[in-house]
Amino acid sequence: MHLAPRIMVTGGAGFIGSFLCERLLDQGAEVLCVDNFFTGTRSNVAHLMGNPRFELMRHDVTFPLFVEVDQIYNMACPASPIHYQFDPVQTTKTSVHGAINMLGLAKRTKARILQASTSEVYGDPEIHPQEESYWGNVNPIGPRSCYDEGKRCAETLCFDYHRQHGVEIKVARIFNTYGPRMHPNDGRVVSNFIMQALRGEDITIYGDGSQTRSFCFVDDLVDGLIGLMNTDTGVTGPINLGNPGEFTIKELAELVIEMTGTSSQLVQKPLPQDDPRKRKPDITRARNTLGWEPQVKLRDGLEKTIAYFRELHAAG
Ligand code: NAD
Ligand code: UDP
Ligand code: UDP
Repeated sequence: MHLAPRIMVTGGAGFIGSFLCERLLDQGAEVLCVDNFFTGTRSNVAHLMGNPRFELMRHDVTFPLFVEVDQIYNMACPASPIHYQFDPVQTTKTSVHGAINMLGLAKRTKARILQASTSEVYGDPEIHPQEESYWGNVNPIGPRSCYDEGKRCAETLCFDYHRQHGVEIKVARIFNTYGPRMHPNDGRVVSNFIMQALRGEDITIYGDGSQTRSFCFVDDLVDGLIGLMNTDTGVTGPINLGNPGEFTIKELAELVIEMTGTSSQLVQKPLPQDDPRKRKPDITRARNTLGWEPQVKLRDGLEKTIAYFRELHAAG
């Protein structure tokens, strides 16, 4: 007999997934972490291995998986542009075949499933801030499309499994998230800037640095994900989860320079193709439905993240 809920986290050895596994264990759940270790690592979950309610399984979600669970957080998918563009066909397969398999599993076991979607479904947005009713402005054939369109299709699959088969779905549109355990060579802006600052290397601003992003600390995001999973049956989303504070990339670089006390200089590199000009979530729906909003200010979150990377840097 199972008293503790059995929760599967795909992509659980990744950045966000590892924090989610940790929090679910703290809440008393049995956690099955499923990961193919493409961008995630065993070391991200090493501290959980001694917990008898934690299990780690190497598996690629593009292949079927037969396990018995009560809830599924489908987080598997590389999230950084350099990683998702490394093998774009596999990226689309992960989102599309992965969603089909996890929704098939949810259908068979009557598990509730939360799909990790992304602000990238809005593409290079024409409305600002982005609210969930906006259909987006996505290039279907560019270098980012494997990620954007894969996630859009995963959302479609969720809603069709819900309408056609009655699967209980929760769709979270996650905006830029940062924190400890981001991979130092992950290529995302927060980890790049901090590592460059700590190494005393040039800080690489793509384009003129006037593009904006909104940065959510990982602890806040995990609160939002668990809140969404545990909403009433009728709540499907999509729901934006992100921090509405908006910063230009140049502002972020200057903040990292100030906080690390580095002598690094700013240098400009070419802006990647289809890089969104601006991004900021409208979180009215999350506030009203989940009573959720981020608590951690950028400066405070960066402090914790810089401390993590400092230790990593010192360890060589
Ligand atoms: P991450 O790269 O650290 O984690 C992704 C995890 O998925 C890794 O552990 C990786 O090994 C695993 N994975 C990839 N392909 C897989 C496959 N085919 N089968 C099994 N496992 C696979 O990235 P993250 O930042 O933790 O992102 C987690 C989820 O959140 C992703 O779905 C991502 O699209 C979404 N998301 C993240 C952000 C962000 O800013 N971090 C923003 C929007 C959406
Ligand atoms: N699937 C899975 N685990 C399960 C149930 C299904 O991986 O516990 C896979 C299954 O192999 C199929 C996909 O999920 O490829 C979709 O399942 P569904 O039942 O919707 O489709 P069907 O099996 O009828 O093609
Ligand atoms: N960026 C940058 N320098 C870097 C890495 C990224 O200026 O070293 C920019 C990038 O062009 C984008 C923003 O920072 O405009 C956020 O990039 P990231 O890859 O972190 O996330 P995404 O583009 O998916 O929002």
